[in-house]
Amino acid sequence: MTSTGIRKGCIGEVNIREIKAKSILRKHKKIDSWFVSRYGMNLYRGCAHNCVYCDGRSERYQVDGVFGENVVVKTNAVEILRRELKPICRRVKLKPGYIMVGGGVGDGYQPVEEKYQLTRKTLQLLREYRWPVHVLTKSTLVERDLDVLKRMNQQNRAIVSFSFSSTNDETSTIFEPHVPPPSERLKTLAFFKRNGVACGMFLLPVIPFITDTPEMIAEALRKAHEIGVDFVIFGGMTLKEGRQKEHFFSLLREKNPELMAKYKKLYDGKNTWGQATGEYYNTISSVFNEMSKRYKIARRMPPALYNDILSENDLVTVMLEQLDYFLQLEGKRSSYGYAAYAISQLNMPLSTMKNQLREIKSVGEKTEKIILEILETKNSSYYNSLI
Ligand code: SF4
Repeated sequence: MTSTGIRKGCIGEVNIREIKAKSILRKHKKIDSWFVSRYGMNLYRGCAHNCVYCDGRSERYQVDGVFGENVVVKTNAVEILRRELKPICRRVKLKPGYIMVGGGVGDGYQPVEEKYQLTRKTLQLLREYRWPVHVLTKSTLVERDLDVLKRMNQQNRAIVSFSFSSTNDETSTIFEPHVPPPSERLKTLAFFKRNGVACGMFLLPVIPFITDTPEMIAEALRKAHEIGVDFVIFGGMTLKEGRQKEHFFSLLREKNPELMAKYKKLYDGKNTWGQATGEYYNTISSVFNEMSKRYKIARRMPPALYNDILSENDLVTVMLEQLDYFLQLEGKRSSYGYAAYAISQLNMPLSTMKNQLREIKSVGEKTEKIILEILETKNSSYYNSLI
């Protein structure tokens, strides 16, 4: 990214810095089985939504200035993306899958989007190139783009997902002060569902000792079930040392001082990714697992949303990783995750090596059978028995 042509301005309480980016598409090392995408993008860096737990403020992501008060706008994003999408301009062909818009270090529908419309223009461009898109946001502004998303969905699929730390409006005003309350986000999800667009809930991050209780997890899943969301992806909170942890702790000290000792124990600073200690994630995941069964909710994107989009190797990779996750939720260990990784690194189609599958690292007899079934039917009976 270059900083030539920088312009400064202000929208509301936020300082805006306009820059010219050199690239937009961010390639993942392998297909991501949460979003079923190989590419993502940040059209804005920094986020006026300023959620207290946001890991975008961690030094690791090098977002300039005070997080929440400064937003960098990549004004030439659409122009650069057009070049990146054009097959003729590429040495290596882009691989199929959803293109992820949002998440990362800035919500694509934060307030600056009303002025710059980079997300809308990006969607229009992706539609031109017939790319499926998966949007993740916390802002109801996404309703503005129903026209484009609906057309994309009819053409080659679109998914709209919202993230929540809970579905409780009161708690949200403390931890997500600048985004529409969960009740409004749920209404927007219902709006997209009514318009035939697939929807996801990212119940992530649940906040330890505050929104991770069985009651709050159950409430979120019940509301997701009522709307008919297609899947719920669940996850706990990480707190990286430095700005992210300091910012979160300063609010906690003010609002819930009685929890400080427990938090210090849970986030002892020894994990580079800011993960909680001990069995914490297993404990909350098993609560989620039980509740998701009660409400019959898919815990990953269901194959029907992607099995006609992906290359065969990516399809097998995603389904094996998801299988591994379902088994983990049951407290079981499996080698499917390792096999998925080995397959993601292959550079020849699995269908050309049907007789050599067992030579792939971590692929045993059972995994071989699953892979062959996926190659033949784009589905797996074992997978279906677990969801
Ligand atoms: S909306 Fe997302 S990117 Fe923006 S502050 Fe909240 S968590 Fe961070």
